[in-house]
Amino acid sequence: MIAARTSYLQREVLLTSLILGSTLFSLGFIISQFSYDASAPSYRVLALTIATGLLVIVGTGRMRKSLCSVDAIQSRLRSFAQSADTMDMVPMLENGPVATGWNRIIEKLQAHTQEQSIERRIAQAAGDRGAERYARALRSLSDGLAISDRFGRLSYVNPAWTRLAGSTNAETDIVGQSLVDLFAARGFDNWQEAGSGILEGTRPLRVELRCGQHSADGVLQLARLPLEGRVQENEGYVWTLRDVTQNSLANEAHEQFLASATHELRTPLTNIKAYSESLIDMENIAPAQQKEFFNVIHSEAERLSRLLNELLDIQQLEAGSMTISTATFDVQRMLQEIQEHILPLVEKKQLKLICRVAPDIKSIQADKEKIISCLVNLLGNAIKYTPEHGEIRLFAEQVDTAVSISVEDTGIGIAEEEQTKIFDRFYRCQDERVNEIEGNGLGLAFAMEVARLHQGELKVESRLNFGSRFTLRLPLSHKLS
Ligand code: ADP
Repeated sequence: MIAARTSYLQREVLLTSLILGSTLFSLGFIISQFSYDASAPSYRVLALTIATGLLVIVGTGRMRKSLCSVDAIQSRLRSFAQSADTMDMVPMLENGPVATGWNRIIEKLQAHTQEQSIERRIAQAAGDRGAERYARALRSLSDGLAISDRFGRLSYVNPAWTRLAGSTNAETDIVGQSLVDLFAARGFDNWQEAGSGILEGTRPLRVELRCGQHSADGVLQLARLPLEGRVQENEGYVWTLRDVTQNSLANEAHEQFLASATHELRTPLTNIKAYSESLIDMENIAPAQQKEFFNVIHSEAERLSRLLNELLDIQQLEAGSMTISTATFDVQRMLQEIQEHILPLVEKKQLKLICRVAPDIKSIQADKEKIISCLVNLLGNAIKYTPEHGEIRLFAEQVDTAVSISVEDTGIGIAEEEQTKIFDRFYRCQDERVNEIEGNGLGLAFAMEVARLHQGELKVESRLNFGSRFTLRLPLSHKLS
């Protein structure tokens, strides 16, 4: 279209120049004829003719120049139309007003294209980085994640999935395998029932896979979700695999704790009932025997009250509603009371108890009963987890404006990776030796809460098979929050 218009323009200009030139030439000739004078030299006619010719040449030259620009623009546009979209390929024109305008348009277009290409490159780089970030995030997840089609054929698995599924193959080798075959080969204890219907329907699904007969052997939670946006077509699933062994153990410990608490409450109650009934029924009972029965009833009532207080503490601990009521008391005397309390247990296990309390230690403002329970828990653990003939040490000193009490033992110790977990409620170490010792995993959670409520801290240092040290630091006084 542009080409047609410019050649039309070219013809028009040429025609106009010719007509103009001929007209001027004719005019000059006519004037020279009318003013013919024999005396007048014929050079006038010649001059006029030459002037007219010159005018025509100049006019045609200018026209040609413009036409060349038009021609050049036309050819550049044609090549631009053919040469895809690279503005860099479009050459500039050399001079003239048309060239200036043309060059400006080209410059603007080049700048615009350049901007667009930079934006495109930035967006692409950001996209690449984003995808790389997502891939890295999936790789570092501690939960297993996999994607499969609706027949369970895996198209993606992250390293955690491979590890949890117990496969020794690389992720790339697992891709393409069937999820059902993979789990069947892993030999989960309950795969028959848990795995049935795992590929049916589109509803979210959650099953527990047990690695052995006991929770301690390992429990995995497999969850299934329909692949986002493909619910209707039922085209695929996203799977997550999580190690829930600890949760399972904690739930079991919780149930066990409730069962044993009920049992422990029943024993003193039965004793109280039996001895009081004897006192009522027996006639002529000797005063010495009477006293003995009353003593039993009293100590069983004490035991009952202690148990109820412990239960209350635990219930408050679980509800997060434990509070403290503080008063000032002597730390030395409190530690003395505690030693007397635990001495029978220490002797029973033939352990050596060393106590070292700094003489300058002052009294503190705290909840005495709660601090006693906390220290009895720490000492009770030291006794429980130290084999016979081992050593237990109780040290206390004043450091600046705080009292530091540490309980050390030469017992079984705690693995490094478990040292942060032991303060969780119902957590018990994986160590087989721990399973053989009675406990509910609540003692340290309680001790930690007591330390926190006093704005103090409780720390553990331990080496497996060498022993542990628990240090309770309490401020001498504190502002209630
Ligand atoms: P538990 O009733 O099981 O003793 P705790 O909350 O008191 O519960 O302790 C949590 C876990 O920490 C214990 O099950 C045990 O595995 C570990 N633990 C605590 N104290 C000691 C210790 N002195 N030596 C070795 N392990 C310990």
